[in-house]
Amino acid sequence: MKLETREACLSADAKDPLRGCRERFTLPEGLIYLDGNSLGPLPRATPALLNRTVREEWGRDLIGSWNSHGWMALPESLGDRIGKLIGAAPGQVVVTDSTSVNLYKLLHAALALRPGRGIILSEEGNFPTDLYIAQGLKDRAELRMAARGKLPAAIDENVAVVMLTQVDYRTGALWNMKEMTRAAHDAGALILWDLSHSAGALPVDLDSCGADLAVGCGYKYLNGGPGAPAFLYVSRHLQENIRTPLSGWMGHAAPFDFSMGYAPAPGIRRMLCGTPSVLALRALEAGLQTFADTDMAALREKSLALTGLFMALVDRHLPADTFEIVTPREDHLRGSQVSIRHAGGYAFMQALIEAGVTGDFRSPDLMRFGFTPLYTRFTDVWDAVEHMVTIHRDGRWREKRYNRRQAVT
Ligand SMILES: *Cc1c(COP(=O)(O)O)cnc(C)c1O
Repeated sequence: MKLETREACLSADAKDPLRGCRERFTLPEGLIYLDGNSLGPLPRATPALLNRTVREEWGRDLIGSWNSHGWMALPESLGDRIGKLIGAAPGQVVVTDSTSVNLYKLLHAALALRPGRGIILSEEGNFPTDLYIAQGLKDRAELRMAARGKLPAAIDENVAVVMLTQVDYRTGALWNMKEMTRAAHDAGALILWDLSHSAGALPVDLDSCGADLAVGCGYKYLNGGPGAPAFLYVSRHLQENIRTPLSGWMGHAAPFDFSMGYAPAPGIRRMLCGTPSVLALRALEAGLQTFADTDMAALREKSLALTGLFMALVDRHLPADTFEIVTPREDHLRGSQVSIRHAGGYAFMQALIEAGVTGDFRSPDLMRFGFTPLYTRFTDVWDAVEHMVTIHRDGRWREKRYNRRQAVT
């Protein structure tokens, strides 16, 4: 699709099969929000669902709600709903803990499933928490990191588990899940996919790729709210033998028998640890409702059109030596974000945010723009680039105040 004018963008918005989904969100008037890859916006349904949960379930029905309102089943029922977005048949996904904690549980478990192998293999430049968690397992395994181009050649018979983030948080580069999964399996290793920037951003096919393990975030494309619970996936074929190192009572076969010995629950429930945060789960439930009836193929098509349009407009209107697009141009090699290297990237992004276009910045020099097909319009892309051109031309981003760093960038 070639969109050469703002009018063409307007008509693309009018024809967009996902145009109605924007109504499912509460977005501040006039704001162009291109940061749903960091924090999804507030779904319109969230306040009412939380209000009802607080007043009727917690307030009125109290402890009986664990049974009568299905609180106990939420980790699995929401897990199955996420499963639909990531190509996992029911019974393989649970919502629990944070992505970091789930990484720990699954890496630890993967090492036990591949005795005699002492290496966790990951990619240089992977998201820090993924690498830190692997480093924290140093008494059990060594973390080996390979440059993107040196994978999959770095997978050998010492590697217990390959840990990759499907969409790179910095560049937006997308791994071929099927190929890398096969490469890990050919060397006898397991594979653990981090779907933090994939779940809800593009169709994922864990089952059909033969993936073993996966984790992902609830507060990015899934719109579950700040610090929302995360999810994890264990393929059916591993469930009988997998053991979580955090053997808490919610993963017990019979938590309310109060027996002294730990016995893991059958199936995916064994990966739970402690009592889930029901309010947070309800917020995630509302987040997942924003995907109701969404055809993920149509979502992907729009995502590629949005990111493609953004790159084409940046190419046309901004100098390539100052604004270097580091995201792959080929459709099958990128996720749903575009990153631009700019020497003054932090300050430029601050000026852009002040002008009403929210993206974010990743050290040392990357501006990130997330394009979430459920609510981002083609005209938003057009207008965002216009703001960038204005800020580039008038040079206001050089003003000192845009250079003051905040705790969260
Ligand atoms: C966002 C993100 C995380 C976040 O982990 P938390 O435990 O939720 O802080 C982990 N890994 C990747 C790749 C991410 O993008």
